Amino acid sequence: MSEHIFIGVAWPYANGPLQLGHIAGAYLPADIFARYHRLKGNDVLMVSGSDQHGTPVTIRAEQECVTPQEVADKYHHQFVECWQRLGISFDLFTTTGTPNHTEVAHDIFLTLLREGYIYKDTMLQAYCPKCQRFLPDRYLEGTCSYCGFPRARGDECDECGKPLSPSELKDLRCRVCSTPPRFESSEHFFLRLSAFQDRLAAWIKEQTHWRRNVLGGAWGFLNDGLRDRAITRDLDWGVAVPQPGFERKRLYVWFENVIGYLSASKEWAKLRGDDTAWRGFWQGDAKSFYFLGKDNIFFHCLSWPAMLMGYGGLNLPYDVPANEFLTIEGRKLSKSRGRAIWLHDYLERYEPDPLRYTLAANMPETGDSDFSWHEFLRRNNNELVATYGNLVHRALTFAYRNFDGTVPAPGELDERSQDLLHEGEITLDSVDKLLYRCEFKEAIKQAMSLAQESNRYLDEQAPWKTIKTERKTSAKSVYTVLSVLAALKTVFYPFLPFSSERLHSFLGFDGSVKEGGWKIQFLPPGQKLRQPQPLFVKLDEDIVAEESSRLDPLNENQKIES
Ligand SMILES: [Zn+2]
Ligand SMILES: [Zn+2]
Repeated sequence: MSEHIFIGVAWPYANGPLQLGHIAGAYLPADIFARYHRLKGNDVLMVSGSDQHGTPVTIRAEQECVTPQEVADKYHHQFVECWQRLGISFDLFTTTGTPNHTEVAHDIFLTLLREGYIYKDTMLQAYCPKCQRFLPDRYLEGTCSYCGFPRARGDECDECGKPLSPSELKDLRCRVCSTPPRFESSEHFFLRLSAFQDRLAAWIKEQTHWRRNVLGGAWGFLNDGLRDRAITRDLDWGVAVPQPGFERKRLYVWFENVIGYLSASKEWAKLRGDDTAWRGFWQGDAKSFYFLGKDNIFFHCLSWPAMLMGYGGLNLPYDVPANEFLTIEGRKLSKSRGRAIWLHDYLERYEPDPLRYTLAANMPETGDSDFSWHEFLRRNNNELVATYGNLVHRALTFAYRNFDGTVPAPGELDERSQDLLHEGEITLDSVDKLLYRCEFKEAIKQAMSLAQESNRYLDEQAPWKTIKTERKTSAKSVYTVLSVLAALKTVFYPFLPFSSERLHSFLGFDGSVKEGGWKIQFLPPGQKLRQPQPLFVKLDEDIVAEESSRLDPLNENQKIES
């Protein structure tokens, strides 16, 4: 029976380009998961959008002397182009700037207010006497009282990932002019998170299938005790607060952007002409999965579920497979220090699949992992080109040249050949189970070991030798390898969609891989093959030095100094 799978992917701030950490953290695993479920014949709805509100966007706009809307539009278009080129297959990638989103956010706000889960109170708000304005959290900077990081933001520490309030920062100052702020009273709405402490704890206790690091993060917050949090800000950019007297305030992004999962689902339903279609993904047996980096655990495992509990009638997350961080060449990524690999830069120079492969094979699932250009080169040249690509190329060109460009009739299969086909079935089955549990790293490893095993088989059988003397034996081994290729195009499809589609076509199939479903697609003898081309391109060793110098402009300065 087909399942309804909802996939929500963290909303990227439309304040700068995407970098590899974002991709490994949330977008690639979500896409692998979505493609896998679609291939299984399940109904998938994968949504996200650019978060165009919040101070990250206004800060960028001030730096660039443009409007926040211009910043948001620019990066939204860049995101959409990147998804298309990297093959991140959203069913809808929208923005938080739509009237639909405002409407859904207001509905949730007003319902929670009516139910008593939102209340009004005054709080002391930082005010910069020099800039003459209230300072939202991101406009504040100071030393994190948990880990001592000297440039923690007012809402969160980049170093230790703790959500913060300005009172938890030492040496507080205005981010724009460095003046210490004074505190003035300001009226705001608060989400009564404390009221959900027990319900959330009871619910999280049941989530035994969650990743250990995610459970650990969630329990950390619960054990500290949940505090009510302000959900409005003194700002003029964002979703309006639907209450009189709050005309100059806006909803806080972390209250409002998670609502985007619901509003995007409703927008998707409207776009397909069935206003109620979203319900199938939010109610009843539907399972919802949220993909994000570990710095967003609080908002997805506690704050958003509390809002859903208070609102009622909608499914809570089924799983939140948050990833740890990706370091680059052994060091932490840092946008502010300009040390990152930008996705659009990568896509201008290389194919999408080798990046998808490298990041999936080394995904930061249970601990931080590292991306290096050396590793990228090794995985591309040794694994994609020399193992998988070579297998495909050898088998297909041989079949194409020696059997009239068709799939040869195998005759009776010997034990060795049956074993390899059986190995294909086993791999399909175990990758299936692994992907269902979001264990991507192990899944791709098993897919690649089927390619290795098939290479060994091909070397042993050497159909290029038997073709002259025992044409039947040659046909049998070629048929067997081509059938395993039909398994490989399927198990690799969630990870390497572009090369899987090409292989699907080389094998003579029409349509797309998706139509074949999650099984070894039967290869009828006599099926016309298509002229094969290499699946992957070998990369030159020089790219390592070249890319590393691009990555770290500091290297240049160091050279000049020394
Ligand atoms: Zn910290
Ligand atoms: Zn200031």
